[in-house]
Amino acid sequence: MPTFKDQSPLLAREFAERLDPIVRAIYLELEHHVLTVYRIPLIITCVERTPLENQKAGGVPRSAHLKQDGYYVRALDMRTKNLSETAIRDVVSRVARVWGAMAHCIRHTGTADHIHLNVNLRYATAWPE
Ligand SMILES: [Zn+2]
Repeated sequence: MPTFKDQSPLLAREFAERLDPIVRAIYLELEHHVLTVYRIPLIITCVERTPLENQKAGGVPRSAHLKQDGYYVRALDMRTKNLSETAIRDVVSRVARVWGAMAHCIRHTGTADHIHLNVNLRYATAWPE
């Protein structure tokens, strides 16, 4: 079961109900990998953003953290401060290697250092409403 920043019930609900199931699958594989190889739990810091939250976070206008019509939320962020540089590089390169064009994973540094993961729109799951 994933670990969420501040044990946030809101993040847990977004992960279970609002997040694209492909991102969930990728994340669960990454979590398993990092836990078995490095003995470190990954921590989810962000799933969905409102347009205002996205603006404050400096997100791009069509950020995958925004719920768009017809789609699930397509992105999540992970904490980096609990990880080694090796583990961070491993996570980012693993997504490219295992999931190829389906997904995008990048480390954002600066004021809010984190790892961002999203499913690309072409492979996104349709929202069932
Ligand atoms: Zn992100």
